[in-house]
Amino acid sequence: MHSFGIDTRDPGDYIAALNDLRFAKLRRQIAYVFGNDDYYRLRFREAGVTAPEDIRSLEDFRRLPAFLDKTRHRQSQEQSLERYGHPFGLHLTAPLEQVVHVAATSGTTGQPTFYAFTRKDLDITHRMLGRLFQAAGIAPGDTTFHAFGLSLWLAGVTYVQALEAYGARPIAVGAEGGIPKILRYIEYTRPRALFATPSLLHQLIERAPGEIGKPVAALGLEILVCTGEPGVSMAPFREKITAAFGARIYDVTGGAWHNATISCGGAAYHGMHYLAEDHCFRYDLVDPETKAPIEIRDGAVGEAIHTALDYEAAPAFRNATGDILKIHVGECPHCGHFGTRMEIVGRADDMLNVKGAKVYPAAIQEVVAGFQPAVSGQIRIRLSGPPPRVEPPLRVVVEAGEATPQSQWDDVARRIEQRTREILAIRPAVTVVPFGSLPRSDQKTKLIEIATAE
Ligand SMILES: [Zn+2]
Repeated sequence: MHSFGIDTRDPGDYIAALNDLRFAKLRRQIAYVFGNDDYYRLRFREAGVTAPEDIRSLEDFRRLPAFLDKTRHRQSQEQSLERYGHPFGLHLTAPLEQVVHVAATSGTTGQPTFYAFTRKDLDITHRMLGRLFQAAGIAPGDTTFHAFGLSLWLAGVTYVQALEAYGARPIAVGAEGGIPKILRYIEYTRPRALFATPSLLHQLIERAPGEIGKPVAALGLEILVCTGEPGVSMAPFREKITAAFGARIYDVTGGAWHNATISCGGAAYHGMHYLAEDHCFRYDLVDPETKAPIEIRDGAVGEAIHTALDYEAAPAFRNATGDILKIHVGECPHCGHFGTRMEIVGRADDMLNVKGAKVYPAAIQEVVAGFQPAVSGQIRIRLSGPPPRVEPPLRVVVEAGEATPQSQWDDVARRIEQRTREILAIRPAVTVVPFGSLPRSDQKTKLIEIATAE
């Protein structure tokens, strides 16, 4: 893995060296986006900055408010459509003719938010994703199989092209191909690595015997690369998948504005290594409530503000991602690499505040998942009013495991309360309910239920 030319093994010195690297590139990038009269210059003005030179240090930069987020991104797109006849946003900082590649995420509104790439943006993206493929153990010359959604998604065509640029021969069936075709084509093309979401991997395990007459272990896959959903960070999921496929599994993020991160395999999960520190400042952390900067050091938790350091087309520049990240700085307990890693703790809009303690539903879910198979892993957090403020205790409903007798439920509840207190510093009130009694859905299940006054 990359060390970005930094050769210290002191966490404080390491971050200081990264910050120097960042600010050296940011000086140019600040001046570059400042030239965007339609959007970024206005955001600077609002923040009281009249010239790029006013930002004298990384500390100055970190004190700026967020300039972009999902909602503003969409508004910026609508305005550019109206004013210029293209949907790539008023924050498009390069001439439209130079945008050669487009990806998007579809939000809950159904309106896409676009990622635009110039040739240079795309080349750097391919190099950053190349680092990711290399870290997963994929070599140029390997056959790879792409089963993420292809339709405009960043992990779609963008990944396929990056695999080609890396020389790893993608078979691009995509999730749209459907399970039977994916299974038959894997059997036929014999890839070494498979790119698929956790839920698709589950479906492949279940349906392989019926569709191709053999278990997925017989497919000979060595490497599984996952993104798009939580799962890989949870031990029971990892154990099930690696046992069924007989393959190593990696959790990745990447593609957006030069970001790239990957977990490093192994029995325990130690977060995802940052692979693109030289092109992207992905974890400028702020307090999710006050938006004040949080010191970046080992163990820091906060909302991530993303800034691409040398992106041309429509860059993330102080983009509030809504992700709550925990940052690790130091030697990785699994692979020994010295650097920065991150864990996704939750979403800023999911945050609960229990008498001053910040708690994320996903973190509680992870604690509970550690008790499988005594529990099913399904939980609900029941609030008596709208978040984030919660009057303690936080009420958590946990579904029993299929084979857990009712006589053990109280004991399981007390142990989950105890473990939550050790890990998250709050003691919830846990109630165990029968297996199958919490509704499931294919969509991302809402973990919070708010009681309505009747
Ligand atoms: Zn590692």
